[in-house]
Amino acid sequence: MALLEEAKSVAGQFDYPPEELNKGVKAFIQQMDEGLQKPGTAMSQIPTYVTSVPNGTEKGLYLAVDLGGTNFRVCSIQLHGDTTFSLTQSKVAIPRELMVAKTSKELFGFLAKQIENFLKTHHDEHYQAHVIRRKTMNAQAAQAESEIFQLGFTFSFPVNQIGINRGTLIRWTKGFDIDDAVGKDVCELLQTEIDALHLPVKVAALVNDTVGTLMARSYTSPGKTGTLIGAIFGTGTNGAYVEKLAKITKLSHIEGSEYDRSTGEMIVNTEWGSFDNHMSVLPDTPFDSDLDKESVNPGIQMFEKRVSGMFLGEILRRAMLALVSNAQLFKDEHSGKNSLHSTTTIAEDSALYKQWGVDTSFLSIVAADKTPDLRVIRQTLSRDLGVDAASTEDAEAVKVVVNAIGKRSARLSALAMAAIIIATDNHISRGAGEEDVVDIGVDGSLVEFYPGFDDMMREALREVPEIGDKGEKRIRIGIAKDGSGVGAALIALVAAQKDTST
Ligand code: ADP
Ligand code: MG
Repeated sequence: MALLEEAKSVAGQFDYPPEELNKGVKAFIQQMDEGLQKPGTAMSQIPTYVTSVPNGTEKGLYLAVDLGGTNFRVCSIQLHGDTTFSLTQSKVAIPRELMVAKTSKELFGFLAKQIENFLKTHHDEHYQAHVIRRKTMNAQAAQAESEIFQLGFTFSFPVNQIGINRGTLIRWTKGFDIDDAVGKDVCELLQTEIDALHLPVKVAALVNDTVGTLMARSYTSPGKTGTLIGAIFGTGTNGAYVEKLAKITKLSHIEGSEYDRSTGEMIVNTEWGSFDNHMSVLPDTPFDSDLDKESVNPGIQMFEKRVSGMFLGEILRRAMLALVSNAQLFKDEHSGKNSLHSTTTIAEDSALYKQWGVDTSFLSIVAADKTPDLRVIRQTLSRDLGVDAASTEDAEAVKVVVNAIGKRSARLSALAMAAIIIATDNHISRGAGEEDVVDIGVDGSLVEFYPGFDDMMREALREVPEIGDKGEKRIRIGIAKDGSGVGAALIALVAAQKDTST
């Protein structure tokens, strides 16, 4: 078959038509529900103990730290109370040896030290005033003083959260391995080291990045409407949303949990990356299933493996290789009939031959190329993938497949949002003209940089009958910039308010 025909046929395997989408929405709602009732379900539906969202009038100076996989960020955030903020931050790489330290004290001591450095550099007056006061007061009085910084701790590892600033580490991921931290309260580990340095800092909140995104968006979004969903489409994908307390029935079985019941709501971290791990409704192609089989966690994060940045490049790589062998993609037109080694223009050490060799930013570049001869795609193929002399037809074939993979990702993303909007009963289809909008905050390189991701999501949202054309117009989706810092600050604020009101 001709190359372009074959490429279209591969692309067709990524089609995700409206009927499938709507079946998916129903299954998502069902799996959300299950997760609210009992532990151990596909979607974890983790209660976050955050029981209100900001409206933009919040004020004050807060600290936030973010321990991701690679870096440790410390920032202070001044919330101006008019939906704006200013942010000061510093970032250090976490030394390799600390990721596998003998004791958790070594890692958390290092983190506390970074907070001390940050305070000395950026808030020296505040810090010195505290040092002087501490020398003239007993420890208890110093503790009670009002100038203690409230700190939000974004910790991107699996934790079993049991309170707004309490959560035990389930296991390390991303190359970390410090045995004695497992099962411990990570907030307490950090607070102990902060106290050892006598810093004026209280770890007030433990934060997941989706919740931070939701909070940050709710603070910065225009108008009084609170945000319903915070969603990440970066390396991975996940979302958090505002749920009615009464529906989180498993809360009553969680021992020792404490939370404010007055708002009747709580933000739930869905862990939607694991939606439909048992593959009852998710679309599947040979490229998806091979990717999964050869991943470190087969059968897990099945939704994420079809949606997020870590995986789209790898799906594309596999699809391109299929076209290389079936349809002579990247064939060298000048090679002779008998020369085995020169029948392709792919370099032997090309990233095309390496697992995870194709980054998802490549898809963004391909999708964005509007030149008549697809020059940018051909240049990028040469620069990034060692494919020299790709023809315009090659580039077209790649583009057809890229568009299909990107579109399926956006439609699956819409599936998750539609399901949550319907499940939280936002009477969405009554249409525009009603004053309330449904506000959604998003973050992550995929949604930020993939061309037309938002439009493709919206198209899919309109295809869900419970939403429709009218409902889609009421949905407002916005990027939550600096979400992790601002969100953590806002959660620290909420936690501190609760502390003083009880
Ligand atoms: P993180 O998930 O660590 O917070 P990001 O939100 O930046 O960080 O997401 C990183 C992921 O996004 C990586 O998987 C990367 O391949 C992908 N990515 C980076 N740049 C782009 C881009 N321009 N278009 C699409 N995906 C991108
Ligand atoms: Mg991120």
